[in-house]
Amino acid sequence: MEEAAIVQRHPLERGRNLYALVSPGHHHHHVICRQCGRIERLPGCDSSRIEAAARQRGFSDLTHIMEVYGTCPTCLKKSHV
Ligand SMILES: [Zn+2]
Ligand SMILES: [Zn+2]
Repeated sequence: MEEAAIVQRHPLERGRNLYALVSPGHHHHHVICRQCGRIERLPGCDSSRIEAAARQRGFSDLTHIMEVYGTCPTCLKKSHV
């Protein structure tokens, strides 16, 4: 169902934006390589405690954006040649 989907804007380092269609229940995050920009999905999310803390402060309709940055295996190999 279309109305169940929301568009999640991912602000990336260096001012780029990644737009992802995210359905509730299919929430996920990305790991992004700083060197080549490769993006891979990470399964699941363990931020429920963070949102619970926000809820305790009286906030509702919570959402969050989290991106993980690093060096991918390919770029790691290149940097050691
Ligand atoms: Zn890379
Ligand atoms: Zn999450």
